[in-house]
Amino acid sequence: MSTPLIYDIVLRNGTVIDGTGAPRYMADVAINGDRITAIRSPGTLKGRQTINIEGLVVSPGFIDVHTHDDRLVLIDPSMQPKVSQGIATVVVGNCGISLSPLKLTTSDPVPPLNLLGSKQDFVFDSMRDYIKAVNQAVPAVNVVALVGHSTLRVAVMDELDRPASAEETQQMRSILRKALAEGAAGLSSGLYYQPANAAEMDELVELAKEASHAGGIYTTHMRDEDDFVMESLQETFETGRRAEVPVVISHHKCAGRKNWGRSVDTLRVIEQAAATQEIHVDAYPYSACSTVLRADAIDESIRIIITWSTPCPEVAGRDLADIAAEWQISQHEACERLSPAGAVYFDMSEEDVQRILAHPLVMIGSDGIPHDSHPHPRLWGTFPRVLGHYSRDIGLFSLEEAVRKMTSLPAQRFGLTKRGTIANDHFADLVVFDPTIISDAATFEQPIAPAVGVTLLLVNGQVAYSTRPDLASQRNGRFLTRSGMSTPLPT
Ligand SMILES: [Zn+2]
Repeated sequence: MSTPLIYDIVLRNGTVIDGTGAPRYMADVAINGDRITAIRSPGTLKGRQTINIEGLVVSPGFIDVHTHDDRLVLIDPSMQPKVSQGIATVVVGNCGISLSPLKLTTSDPVPPLNLLGSKQDFVFDSMRDYIKAVNQAVPAVNVVALVGHSTLRVAVMDELDRPASAEETQQMRSILRKALAEGAAGLSSGLYYQPANAAEMDELVELAKEASHAGGIYTTHMRDEDDFVMESLQETFETGRRAEVPVVISHHKCAGRKNWGRSVDTLRVIEQAAATQEIHVDAYPYSACSTVLRADAIDESIRIIITWSTPCPEVAGRDLADIAAEWQISQHEACERLSPAGAVYFDMSEEDVQRILAHPLVMIGSDGIPHDSHPHPRLWGTFPRVLGHYSRDIGLFSLEEAVRKMTSLPAQRFGLTKRGTIANDHFADLVVFDPTIISDAATFEQPIAPAVGVTLLLVNGQVAYSTRPDLASQRNGRFLTRSGMSTPLPT
């Protein structure tokens, strides 16, 4: 490749944290088109547009490996909750629930598929149609898509409270095979949830083999993250081994007061398994989780905040205990009256959260739920919270390690070539932030708030987000297949 004489953009005098975990260094980073074309000594490069970023860090754009942004990328492609954190790529379709491939005509989707939308939103018969819609919407971020196991079950089975028959499993396999061929990154499961809970390991192994054949991965919201977390880990490892597929354990946690502290054991067995098979983990930096409101998750001791409710939308943001007291009924009765609804549960210990986040196999994933009226703050705050609170303020790990967990590690895991590190000829997904002030502004009380300290985000070489008035932003995300290259627009 000949060196261009003039660069489109030069980020001048920045501190480069390249995503590999290597120590930071000062440099100019030049961009032509959608690629990084030069990395040179500070103050030596000039571009058509030269942006001085002295005192700021430039790192690869973050990869949010755990999202439920399937519909957000289509209906609100500006993706403000994500670009304001410096996120350049989102992985959608986690926890067994994906918007495609599934066309619903008669009834609304069962929980938790309803976290993604209602009947009129499930219109994508094939991954190909979904990819086409993503490319037409041109979201501000790149999109990687998993196929949900629960989505497949809803597509194929008339009743979900039983294992799939051999014939149904074959039907799911062929839908999955097609979706993988069209560009999906792998399979996700949410065995904790009712639509998938009756599935046995064999069903998952059969489907995960399909992901393996296509060179994809298997991510799982395990059957249990509570009293039976160790058993669920064993099930996860065995599924991965039998299907010969790389596994990502989703939002790893030890939930429920009596399980606090067990991350010592869970991380030990994860490490042991990772010595002989491909296992990674994602986690978000909060000691509260969020999902649909479920009676069996209410123990009258932990704090629960309602995030949305169809019959009582006005209570979003309030504590379940307060609502129950006001109505003079039990929390379980209130749960019944509020459902369908979503909730935040303060069910983890901070020690476990820190131990898990700090583990070298752990990537960062927000698990943000974008359509909740009062969402968990992880939707807007995850990445700056790891960089600010956990890395800088309490010193849980270096900034280089924090960035690695958000960039090169997920890029390797999801097979996104030429992304996740700052190197010549890599895609120019780049974030510029101030390491001295970066922080999350979103709280449980005020969850919708952009991060502080992210000044610039480039996605495929274009400004996707900026706090500088002189830099106009333009959406430039792409659907990414496993090779990490953009797919041609399906016709
Ligand atoms: Zn989940």
